[in-house]
Amino acid sequence: MKFDDYRISPDIKKSLEKLNFRKPTDIQFRVIPSVLKGEDVLAIAQTGTGKTAAFAIPVIHKVQMGKIAGRANAIKCVVMVPTRELAVQIAEVFNKIGQYTRVNTINIHGGVEQEPQIAKLTKGADIIVVTPGRLFDLVSQGFIKLDKVETVIFDEADHMLDKGFLKDLQDLIRHLPVKRQTLFFSATINETIKKLAYSLVKNPIRIQLSPKDPVSKNVDHAVAFITMDDKRFFLERLIHEHPDKKILVFVRTKVRAERVIKALARMSIPAVALHGDKDQHDRLQTLGEFRGGQHKILVATDVSARGIDIPNVDYVVNYDIPDVPETYVHRVGRTGRAFNKGYAVAFCSEEEKPLLQAIESYITKPVKVLDINRKDYTDTLAFTTDVNTDWKSLLREEEQAEKAAKLKKRKKK
Ligand code: ADP
Ligand code: MG
Repeated sequence: MKFDDYRISPDIKKSLEKLNFRKPTDIQFRVIPSVLKGEDVLAIAQTGTGKTAAFAIPVIHKVQMGKIAGRANAIKCVVMVPTRELAVQIAEVFNKIGQYTRVNTINIHGGVEQEPQIAKLTKGADIIVVTPGRLFDLVSQGFIKLDKVETVIFDEADHMLDKGFLKDLQDLIRHLPVKRQTLFFSATINETIKKLAYSLVKNPIRIQLSPKDPVSKNVDHAVAFITMDDKRFFLERLIHEHPDKKILVFVRTKVRAERVIKALARMSIPAVALHGDKDQHDRLQTLGEFRGGQHKILVATDVSARGIDIPNVDYVVNYDIPDVPETYVHRVGRTGRAFNKGYAVAFCSEEEKPLLQAIESYITKPVKVLDINRKDYTDTLAFTTDVNTDWKSLLREEEQAEKAAKLKKRKKK
């Protein structure tokens, strides 16, 4: 099956050709006809399998047909996503696929001034890609009307329907027409969330690809057992062994991210950090520069674990083992995108072993173990260029910084 065989507008086919999308991925093959027919869909497919285009292609087609038929200008589709970076990225995909149509997509997210967003809305938008908080603000202020919306999409659906977002979403859903098409997309989902998703739709949902092991088939992932205090030396070694590779390092907290950056700086390894404490413009710029290859090493918290599509990340390092098993799947899924292969390695300390077990039971198989023999291990420590090997004081510093950050957070609330 080729895109040419679909009943979609020639303008969209032309842009797909330009994007070098020759044939649909499995999930696109299954989802596009359903969405075109107006069905509600819950689509579960592994990371990097092209879920964005699976909803963008048919939705742009429908909106374009509506415009050609002379339907009034109004927001016809809302895509809900969990992070600002993802809102920007997905709006970009829509605009690329819709570049030869007159369908206009904009992103609406928090962390930046709302005036420019309002200005864009005034000019007219057919599709908006949003984070729920800012959408809710603009709906309440009357800048966004959702009464003509035909399709609502939840990307990273399990995360969007989870506790943190649910209240915002329930408030928003009241503003949407009852008669609408609802689509859910994610690489991971659990039974509770699935039930919740069903409760939001009228028509029976079609469930698509749902593999038992949700880790992308394109990712070769493994774990190495390393003491907490030695992790930075192994990161140093990995970077030195792969000098030309793009490496994405995930850590548990913002404080840890800054720590790792500092440790790398002592080893003369340039790296940049991405986490929720950074100013939004900085966040987008850092991500853009990592995408563009100006930075080879990005140290990030889980704000970047979901959905972010950087085509040539070679290595994902789980510097800390995530405490939510799904997060492991999403983190390693930042590599091995589309038809590329990728590698991921997790650094697991003794105290993190229960977290690793939880991940293994979630993905229904053990994670391959990288055997580091004693000599290799001691060599790695011996060859470090880190001059500050007083790790005990480093660790103490880190603990204090984390405590201070927690205190600050509590005060904010
Ligand atoms: P997912 O949301 O499933 O994690 P994305 O939608 O972000 O995946 O797509 C992953 C990558 O695959 C993107 O870089 C995208 O450009 C690419 N891609 C999507 N569909 C196709 C296709 N049909 N042919 C080639 N590449 C594709
Ligand atoms: Mg996605």
